[in-house]
Amino acid sequence: MNLKDYIDIIEDFPTEGISFKDITKLAANNEAFDYTIEELKKELEKEEIEYIIGPEARGFLFGSAVAYAMGVGFIPVRKEGKLPGEVISYTYKKEYGEDRLEIKKNAFKEGAKVAIVDDLLATGGTVKAATDLLKSMGADVRALAFVIELTELGGRELNKDVDIISLVKYP
Ligand code: AMP
Repeated sequence: MNLKDYIDIIEDFPTEGISFKDITKLAANNEAFDYTIEELKKELEKEEIEYIIGPEARGFLFGSAVAYAMGVGFIPVRKEGKLPGEVISYTYKKEYGEDRLEIKKNAFKEGAKVAIVDDLLATGGTVKAATDLLKSMGADVRALAFVIELTELGGRELNKDVDIISLVKYP
C-alpha cells in the first residue's frame, strides 16, 4: 500500500512556508489506517515495549491504536495546562512556534521501556523534548516511531541516540 495516496499536502498551513502533511484521509480510511498501525506495530515489536507515549494531538490518534494493537499501555504527553494533578513540564521549539509538553508525574515506574509514536517527524524538537522529559523520569526510551518523516529538517540527526522508525518520507 502506498500511504502517500492518503496524505494530503496543504501548502502554507498553518503559516506561510509550511508544507503541511494532512493525515485526515489516512485515518478515515479503514484499510490505510489498519496498514499504518500494523506496520508501526511490526517495527516496535522488535523492542520489548511496555508503554507507548503519544504527544498531543495526532500522537494520541496513532499512539493509542498502536498501543492497543501491541497489547501495551498508552500514556499521553499533553500541551500545557491540560493534565490534572501533578505534572512534569518541558518547553521546546518546533517547526512553527514554541510549545510546552506535560506528562503526569509517576506515569510509569523507573526503568520502564517506552516508545514514542507521533504522526510526523519534522525538526525533531517535539520528540526530543518528549525523550528528554521521559529520560529525566527514568524511562528507557527504546524507539521513536512516525508515520511521516520530513528528511531535510534534521529530526533524525537531532535524535540520533534513539532508534527511529518512519513509514513514509518527504524531502
Ligand atoms: P517537530 O517538533 O518539528 O518534529 O514537529 C513535529 C510535530 O509538529 C508533529 O507532532 C506534527 O504533528 C507537527 N508538524 C510539524 N511540521 C508539520 C508538517 N509539515 N505537517 C504536519 N504536521 C507537522
